[in-house]
Amino acid sequence: MAETTVPDLVLNNGITIPALGFGVFQTPPEQTITAVETALETGYRHIDTAAAYGNEREVGEALRRSGIARSEVFVETKVWITDFGYDATLHAFTKATGKLGLDQLDLLILHQALPGEFDLTIAAYKALETLLTDGKVRAIGVSNFMPEHLTRLLDAVTVVPAVNQIEVHPYFRQPEVLAADTEHGILSQAWSPIGGITFYRDSGHTSTLTDPVITEIADGHGKTPAQVMLRWHLQQGRQVIPKSVTPSRIRENFAIFDFALTDDELAALDALDTGKRGGPEPEQITRENFGMAIPEA
Ligand code: NDP
Repeated sequence: MAETTVPDLVLNNGITIPALGFGVFQTPPEQTITAVETALETGYRHIDTAAAYGNEREVGEALRRSGIARSEVFVETKVWITDFGYDATLHAFTKATGKLGLDQLDLLILHQALPGEFDLTIAAYKALETLLTDGKVRAIGVSNFMPEHLTRLLDAVTVVPAVNQIEVHPYFRQPEVLAADTEHGILSQAWSPIGGITFYRDSGHTSTLTDPVITEIADGHGKTPAQVMLRWHLQQGRQVIPKSVTPSRIRENFAIFDFALTDDELAALDALDTGKRGGPEPEQITRENFGMAIPEA
C-alpha cells in the first residue's frame, strides 16, 4: 500500500485534515466501493461524502475492506437540508453513522444554508455543536455559506465552523468568501477543484481542462491541467477533494507533491476568474426546490 505523502492542514480546533482528499459526489453506489478502495490504496486518507450523495454505505464498506485503521482515515459527511432542525440533525448523525458503520465522524458539515429559514439552519448547527461536545464528531462546519450566512450563523452560535466547503476553481474563485473564511479562521475546502462543474454539466463555461492558460502552465511542468489546478489550491492554502471513478485519474490527482507553481503562474490562474458560478446560487436554496428526503437506512 502506498505511503501517504499528503501534508496535513490544522483546523481551528487543532484537529488535522489531509490537504488532499477524495470526493464522491455523483459516484454511483455500485462504483463507490472500488473508487474509494483505489483512492485509499493510492494514499488518500480523507473521504468527502454526503447524505445527499446516496453512497455513505459504500464509503463505509470500502473503509472496512481497506483494512486501514479507522484513526488513519479522515471521514467527512454532510447533513442535507431536509434534516435541518435540532432533533432532526441529531437524527441525521445517527442515520449517517449507521450507513457508514462508524461510531464517530471526523467532520460533519451542513451541506447548504437555508437563507429563507435561517432559524432552522441555526438549530441544525446547534445540533452539530452538541455532537461535538459529546465527542460524536471531531469537528463541525458548513458548506456553500456566503459571507452574510457566516455572519448570521456566528451571531447565533458558539463554535466557529472548522471548514466552509465551497465551489472554487479557476473560473469561479469567490475571493470574497475565501476572505471571509480566513477572517473567521475557517478552512476553505474547494469543491469542483478541477472545475468538474464546468464540464459535467451545462454551466455556461467551457471546460477548465482545455483552457489554454492552464494547459500551457501544465505543459511547462510536464503535468496535467488537473494537477496544476490542484497545486494552485494547495499553494493558496485551500483543502481540495477531487472526484474520479477512473483509477488513472485517481492516481494522477494524487501526484501533485513533486512540483510547484510560481507566483506568476498562480496569478495567471487567479486571472481566469469569470465571477460566474457553475453550481446552484446559495441564496436560492429552499426545501421546496431541493427537498429530497434522506432515507433512514
Ligand atoms: P471535480 O472538480 O473533482 O471534477 C470531477 C470530474 O472530473 C469528474 O467528471 C471526473 O471524471 C473528472 N476528472 C477527475 N480527475 C480528472 C483528471 N485528472 N483529468 C480529467 N478529468 C478528471 O468536481 P466535483 O464536482 O466532483 O467536486 C469534487 C468533490 O467536491 C465532490 O465529489 C464532492 O465530494 C464535493 N462537492 C461538494 C459540493 C457541495 O455542495 N458541498 C458540490 C459539488 C461537489 P471521472 O470520475 O469519470 O474520472
